Amino acid sequence: MIPSNLLIINYHKIEKKSDIGLTARHPEAFKRDLDTLVQEGYTTINFHHLKAQGKLPAKPVIITFDDGYLSFYDVAFKELLKRNMTAVVYVPVNYIGKSNDWDVQLGYKKYAHMTAQQLQEIAEQNFEIGSHTLNHKYLNGLSDSELEKELGESKRMLEEQTAASVISVSYPFGKYNKNVLKLSQKYYDFGVQLMPPFFRDSPDNKLCLQRINIYRTDSAATLKKKLSYSNYKLLIIKNRLIQQGAWATILLKKMRGNK
Ligand SMILES: [Zn+2]
Repeated sequence: MIPSNLLIINYHKIEKKSDIGLTARHPEAFKRDLDTLVQEGYTTINFHHLKAQGKLPAKPVIITFDDGYLSFYDVAFKELLKRNMTAVVYVPVNYIGKSNDWDVQLGYKKYAHMTAQQLQEIAEQNFEIGSHTLNHKYLNGLSDSELEKELGESKRMLEEQTAASVISVSYPFGKYNKNVLKLSQKYYDFGVQLMPPFFRDSPDNKLCLQRINIYRTDSAATLKKKLSYSNYKLLIIKNRLIQQGAWATILLKKMRGNK
């Protein structure tokens, strides 16, 4: 069901000014990224296309945006529309029309989020709106009832506010565990994450699909490298081997009685 050559890439803010986490992509760099995707023969789809199980383009790519920042509406939306592209916007529902504060403690600036009306406008252009939970909490530490709220209630409220069907979820901070996956399955067809590849439970689980993060510092060359699927697969395998190697070394040392 998930095509083996599907790429999912991720952005946060599209801003001229940099931020501490280096996730704010400069608008000019973002435009260049989109042009690179076109030049390399990629066609954007979203999870609604995957769910419909129709014929997919030869080189499908899903572009996701976490956090539902206003910069998506102001910059990215227009640039995507110009190129006939689609994308998925992941929204923390309790921040719709407000500014974020979940990472302000870490020294981050406050950023505005899109309003319900802007989200509706985006959905009307056949973009996908997905859940980024209610409050952008770290899900692994929550009880089942809190998790139900963050996952189930966010979907219900988002569908009500945007008049669009919500079929995918992005886990805050990209992190999840088995319990999060189990409960997500009740509400969503697809889930996306940002954990290092060697932490993945099951690479083919459609509720924890891996994404490629695009950072402030990515150049046209590093973007192309990240897009190259064979390299990406190799990177995953390499990371896994390094990780397994690290464990093997620890075990061997223990068996030999070394530190
Ligand atoms: Zn987020």
